[in-house]
Formats: sequence, C-alpha cells, structure tokens
Amino acid sequence: MPGNSLYARDTGAISDLQKLRFFPQEVSHGEGCYLYDPDGRGYLDLSAGWGAASLGYAHPDWVARVHAALLNQAGATLLSSAVAPAVELAERLLEMTPGGAERRVWLGHSGSDANETVARAVAAATGRPRIMSFAGAYHGGTQGSMAVSAHPVQSHATRDTGLTSVPYPDTFRPFDGDASGGALLDHIETLLRITCPGDEVAAFFIEPIQSDGGLLVPPPGFLKRLGEICARHGILTVCDEVKVGLGRTGKLHAFEHEGWTPDILVFGKGLGGGLPVSAVVGPATILNHATAFSMQTTHGNPISASAALGVLDLIERDGLAANAARTGAHLMEALKTTLKGNAHVGDIRGRGLVIGIELVGRDGSAAPQLARRAVYRAWELGLIAYYVGAGSNVIELTPPLILNKTDADLGAARLGQAIADACAGRVDDAAIAAFQGW
Ligand SMILES: *Cc1c(COP(=O)(O)O)cnc(C)c1O
Repeated sequence: MPGNSLYARDTGAISDLQKLRFFPQEVSHGEGCYLYDPDGRGYLDLSAGWGAASLGYAHPDWVARVHAALLNQAGATLLSSAVAPAVELAERLLEMTPGGAERRVWLGHSGSDANETVARAVAAATGRPRIMSFAGAYHGGTQGSMAVSAHPVQSHATRDTGLTSVPYPDTFRPFDGDASGGALLDHIETLLRITCPGDEVAAFFIEPIQSDGGLLVPPPGFLKRLGEICARHGILTVCDEVKVGLGRTGKLHAFEHEGWTPDILVFGKGLGGGLPVSAVVGPATILNHATAFSMQTTHGNPISASAALGVLDLIERDGLAANAARTGAHLMEALKTTLKGNAHVGDIRGRGLVIGIELVGRDGSAAPQLARRAVYRAWELGLIAYYVGAGSNVIELTPPLILNKTDADLGAARLGQAIADACAGRVDDAAIAAFQGW
C-alpha cells in the first residue's frame, strides 16, 4: 500500500481498538449496494456494514428525509424536552410491534447501549439478580452489554456475576446430538430448577438468529417452547433483533417466524440506515422504572430519529421485507448451485437476506483459515463479506434490503469463485496475515 493511501492514513491515525479488518478496504463513496474506493473501483457490499446500511448507500428518498430534518433541526436531545421526530418514531415502533398499551420506547445510539439499558433495567425493576443468554451471543461492545454476552472476541470482558450462558440451538452441531433442540430445552429446565433458580432470573436475552455466533437458525418451535418455559418462571424474554430484524428475514420481525412473541424487543443497526439509532420496546413496568436512569446526551436527537422514520417508511412503501424473502431465496439457490459438491462447504443456512456459509475441514471441524482466505479473495474480486462464528469459519451475508436478483447472481458468482480459490490454495496467506478478523 502506498504510504499516502487512504488505508495507510487510516493506519496512522485511527485506533486499532475499534478495528475488525478482513482486507484493506478503502471507501470514498457509496451508492445503492456498492461501495467505491478512491480510484472509483466498485465493490458489491453483501455485508451492508454489518447490516447497518439497510437501504444501501445514499438512497435518494432517505437522504431527502435526513436532509429535511437537518434543515429544521428540532433540538439535539430528548432528555429534557419532547422532540417531534423522537415521539413520532416511538409511536411508530409501538404501532408496528405486538403488545398491550402499557408499553414504552427507549431510544439510543447503538445495539450496545440498548441491550445494556435492558440488562440494567430488568434487574432494577424486577429485583431478580440473574440473567440468561446464549454462548456465542453478541449483544454489544460496552461493558454492560458485554456483561450479558458470551462471544469469544470478548474474552477480556467482565461478565455479569449473575449470568448463565447456555448453548445456542445449532442444527449443524447439535447439543447432545438432538437437532430438534429438545435436549437443550431439557437442559435449560434443569438449570432453572437447580443451579439457576427460575424465580431469580430477570430476563433471557435471545437472538432470533445468532449472527455473530455463527449465523445459527433455531430449529422450528424452539423459541416458542423456550418462551413458554420463561413465562412459567416469570422470566422476561428479550429479543435482540439488532442485526436480523426490520425486514431482513423476509418478515418485518424475525421472531414472527417462530410463533413466539417476546416481552422486550431491541432494534439497532438497520434501524438507522447507517446513522446511529437504536430502540427498545417493552413493558412500562420496566422502561418507566425510574427517571434519569439510562441516558446519553444525543439520545432521541431529531436527525437519527428522522433517519429511522425514513428507513421504516421505505421498508413499508417499497415492500422490502418481501424483497428480502424473494431475493434472499434466489441468492440462497444461486449459492447452493455454485458451491455444490465442495466438501469444504459444510452448511449453507439462513432466512431471507441473512445467510451463512459454514466452511469446514475434511473432518468437519471449523476451518477459519479458509474463511480468512475466502473473504480476502472475494474482496479482490470486488465483493465485500465478512465471517463470524465461535470457530471464525462462517461467511455472513446481510446485504442491503434493496438487493436485486442481478446483483444476487453476481454476488453468488464472485463468492463461489472466491471460496473455490481459497480451497484450492490460490490465495496468498502472507497477504492476509495482517488481517486476522476475529
Ligand atoms: C451488532 C449487534 C449488537 C451491537 O450493536 P452496536 O450497534 O454495535 O452497538 C447487538 N446485538 C446484535 C445481535 C448485534 O448484531
């Protein structure tokens, strides 16, 4: 890389603490599903910035909405006043989520501050000292959200002293050999009877698809049964829809696939379309527990709130959940066709426009080096995707919800080529040594 390149300047100026790099991508502008480097080379972005760019880049109708909000800046914060776009967003979120009238909305910047707020509020409001969540869960990168997570990248973090983590229902590597998840539910019931008494547990944090933990889709009926178990013990279920919610799975909410309705919903990433905004929707008994309890200065600011309203309007107006179902099914088929017969592709799974490709060695074990090579090679071919998973071996696709079939086909072709090249050893391991991802 030339010494004055954008990437070299980034290396010289920006802290490593917040970097998760897989290749030396430079970005100077974006449009639709494509990011462009300073030389004008386009990259098809099948990550959408980890799902944040739900409408792709520079969507004209969304830009107009944000621009109008800036021209008429209705304050900077909701902490000490009622801000029109923030109230409108909260009312909109209440309308589009199930539950009774006595619910409220908390607005934040990120999935992390939202989950941290939930973890603190459920403990304070219920007086119960314990939390449950899944091994491999990623609920955020702040101390309070890491405290209820269990992702291997956070091995440095301090966990909540009352946290109990159980395996996520993984149909590819099933708990106790039972792909239905039944054995895992029995295990959870045993814990709730003995070592983690159910009446001491305030909440169970649940990703409806475990994304950073390896793009795991629960078996049919699992979350419904888990919800019933939690209800019996008075445990609140928290559905973290930060990455997979708001149309991505083909329905507006990911939990709608499960015949299960959570008590508390958490939104982030795609809600803001690339601007920072998150939201919690839940019972007033929890979210009105106290005043001045969980707040940051620019929470509920009119620009972020308007950006979210723009995203929600466009998802509805343009039928983007239906597009995610349709284009996602097409992309899945194209991937299965191009990757067919490759012994290193252990599993291809997902729902709508959230898809994981699990790469394995000859013995079926996780193959992280193949994943590193594959995403690097894909980038050389003009495609952006990253990998996730406890074994760092699952390529994750969370493209913009506006993806069309032409770009889905192009993406599948480039990714198929990249995985084939990675498996055949046609990728320079020295070039990727500096990009260890996670
Ligand atoms: C990314 C993510 C978070 C954290 O969101 P940030 O915006 O990075 O703070 C929380 N939960 C899930 C499921 C996520 O994917």
